[in-house]
Amino acid sequence: MTGNILCEYWREQAGTLLTSVETQALVACFTGNREHSTQIEQATAAAILQRIHGRRWLACGCRPGVEPPPLMGARRHDTGALHINRFGATAHDPGCPFYVEMDERTSPAIAGGGPLKAITGSWLLATPRGRGVSTGTGGKPVGNRSWKPRMPRLGRLLMTILEAAGINRIEPTDVELAPTEAGRPARVRYARLLYDRLKTLDSYELDTRKAPGLTWRDLTCTYLGGLTRHCIQIRKLIPKFRMPEDAQGLFVGVVDGVRREPEGHWVLVRKSKGNGPTATVRILGEPKTSGQKAGAGIGPFWAIAQLASDPTTSRIEPTEAYLHPCYSKAFPVPVDSDLERRTLRLALEQVVYWQSKGVGVHVVKPVLDELTEDEAACRPDFELRLPGGPRFLIETMGYEDDDYMQCKVGTHARMRRLPGVAGLFEHWAGSEEAEGRDRLRRLLTVAVLGASGRYLADVEDDCCTSGDLKGKTEREGEI
Ligand SMILES: [Zn+2]
Repeated sequence: MTGNILCEYWREQAGTLLTSVETQALVACFTGNREHSTQIEQATAAAILQRIHGRRWLACGCRPGVEPPPLMGARRHDTGALHINRFGATAHDPGCPFYVEMDERTSPAIAGGGPLKAITGSWLLATPRGRGVSTGTGGKPVGNRSWKPRMPRLGRLLMTILEAAGINRIEPTDVELAPTEAGRPARVRYARLLYDRLKTLDSYELDTRKAPGLTWRDLTCTYLGGLTRHCIQIRKLIPKFRMPEDAQGLFVGVVDGVRREPEGHWVLVRKSKGNGPTATVRILGEPKTSGQKAGAGIGPFWAIAQLASDPTTSRIEPTEAYLHPCYSKAFPVPVDSDLERRTLRLALEQVVYWQSKGVGVHVVKPVLDELTEDEAACRPDFELRLPGGPRFLIETMGYEDDDYMQCKVGTHARMRRLPGVAGLFEHWAGSEEAEGRDRLRRLLTVAVLGASGRYLADVEDDCCTSGDLKGKTEREGEI
């Protein structure tokens, strides 16, 4: 080959050009007859991918003038080997050796969806036939500018409920530093059960027309072990529904995961502590997950299940379910991925530290979209809020999904213009380098204490987190 031009690329900026030897090695190894590549080419290609993996992408020059250019990232196979991942909105030119006929750029981000808005009105979503959730999405679509994938309606209802109960909002007094036992590392622990906030919904009427007078407490079960009994209870409530076929309810609770049984059906699973019994409840349909992001399939999860009547038996049963990851079973703040758990941990450790400096900072995990001034939907990963003060955004960064990352860097500029936002910080959660984490802690501390009007004289270089936590690994600080 060929007149191909590849350059390193990051954040809409082209960087170093690859040499023709490097380009040729990538072409030899990742297009066409790759079994004919030489050992030297293989070594060269592997070195390039190693160099860019987790840092940069490659842009191809086959579509001059088109923005963004065709992009490629280094992605690790299950085998451990790095290979090329074509992604982004622009395909290679059909004459380019990197062009592929069957587009491997399967991109949920590009598929997009409308803004993720709260479900208004009824929380009873089952259609009168009892099977299936109505699929209307509501809200006007905003083109492809929203990179968050569309969420099933049941998922939107879960987010609406978590927001209404405040489970995505952590107050400074919700976390504290656990007393250190001899020989054990210090850890942040929860001081209050966030789960209990669901009780604030107890008297909420789920649908004033279909089920007048019936409340969250009547129709919703929040403990998997009690779900089968709850379904029987709802059956007794059928006369209270305006139409018997409208009889339905909800399960909203934290589970360990889902499992497919040998007989083919799906069950929600919640394990007990120690040797207690494991609760499993059958779901008629296949549970949906938010699994668009890497690590989104790692539990524990918030689960929401539709309980609806089987028209033939008139029994109430879980028909459909949606799962969304949460931080931990004890502290079930929703998160979008496993990497976000690391960001949240860092934020919680900082909250404990700032609390010790007399500054109460709230952490919010936005679960619904916010519209920017140009009407684009965006949803920051995390927010730090000082009551009456500014908002600081923390974005979890990782390279598991190039497409997602490309969209993500594009949305940051817009997020910075959201009302009250005084800063946006990136947490490179995929990297285990303590140095980067400590730098972020310092930046956040300077921003937060500065915004709170406190002088920074007492903030030394190494004291931006509680001393007891310093030097501990991510795992040790488990909540
Ligand atoms: Zn190309």
